[in-house]
Amino acid sequence: IFIQKGEGPCIFDVDGNRYIDYVLSWGPLVLGHADLRVIEAVTTASRLGTSYGAPCPAEVELATLVRSLMPTMEMMRFVNSGTEATMSALRLARGFTRREKIIKFKGNYHGHSDMLLVQGGSGMGTLGVPDSPGVTNAAVADTLVAVYNDIDSVSSLFEEYGNSVAAVIVEPVAANMGLVLPERGFLGKLRELTRKHGALLVFDEVLTGFRVHPGGAQAVFGIKPDLTTIGKVLGGGLPVGAYGGRREIMEELAPAGPVYQAGTLSGNPLAMAAGIATLKGLMEKGAWSALEESCQVLVTGLQEEASKCRVPVSVIGMGSLFSIYFGRQNPNDWDSAAQGNSRHYASFFKAMFERSVYFAPSPFEVGFVSTKHTEAILEETIESARASFALL
Ligand code: PLP
Repeated sequence: IFIQKGEGPCIFDVDGNRYIDYVLSWGPLVLGHADLRVIEAVTTASRLGTSYGAPCPAEVELATLVRSLMPTMEMMRFVNSGTEATMSALRLARGFTRREKIIKFKGNYHGHSDMLLVQGGSGMGTLGVPDSPGVTNAAVADTLVAVYNDIDSVSSLFEEYGNSVAAVIVEPVAANMGLVLPERGFLGKLRELTRKHGALLVFDEVLTGFRVHPGGAQAVFGIKPDLTTIGKVLGGGLPVGAYGGRREIMEELAPAGPVYQAGTLSGNPLAMAAGIATLKGLMEKGAWSALEESCQVLVTGLQEEASKCRVPVSVIGMGSLFSIYFGRQNPNDWDSAAQGNSRHYASFFKAMFERSVYFAPSPFEVGFVSTKHTEAILEETIESARASFALL
């Protein structure tokens, strides 16, 4: 489908069909489509020029907002996407530690930089291509892969590669193999292990940031990573990413330090304006709790309708994220996530789509709720789900 316009919780295709949207541009639109506060902020900013190639006050304003929500980001650098954020954060981790290897988790997705295109989830999981042609062996030679929620798999890598590991990068709540929550103690043990071995802990909160909690997963679980990457909601629908963390690490970045990273359009004033308006909207009184409540209503409604039709489904929700797993037990890693019935998911997706509800077309992508998903919209969704589960 080709989209003509977005409005609140809905998108409209070029043929005039309306869909309730739970993809929301893959997450950024936490205030829904074409939120007036965001549109006005971007319009106002655009009258002052679209890019300067030099810092602007809006960068400081957005950074200050972010730091108030995520205090571990003592300093941060804006970039243009989540991919850039993770790629740059790992370059910095390698530069800071003077070590070369990184550890990532099977089924965690961190964008499409070569070194991270190893056993990622997301769209790659759907297509069954764990690695991509075009990525050289050399590019991934220093990428080690552990199993999510399996701390022993991380310990073994540290035992073998010990002092050559620069960083462990993790989605603190995994959201690219469906929604998979960290088991109790998993993130804390990662923190201990990285500290013990002198490696940095990088939380990739591009998806979870401002989504599982205004302060990200780190606020929920009370873990302090050394570096954090964010994106999506941060740009409110314009292209933005950021990485940041401990001051002494960030000061290694050029021009203060020797680790190079730059970008023609980074800190772009329009994107900053959209991000500021979005975060302020999310922080308005009652907005977050209403958003969380909407997601909960949806999760409960979907679960009930599936149970009534005896379709084995596990609907998982956290903050404003949810996913529908076609299987009996909640998955806890990539292998269990991949055992979900993807044929059932595809049929469900199509049935919902025919009833004008747009969920992610892959079972490994999570769903997103916005502040514009009203009770009526949620009820309409649950009614469509009733009919769709019945077909299964
Ligand atoms: N990290 C995570 C956890 C993501 O979910 C994504 C995208 O979905 C990225 C990084 C890459 O972000 P972008 O698509 O903005 O490059």
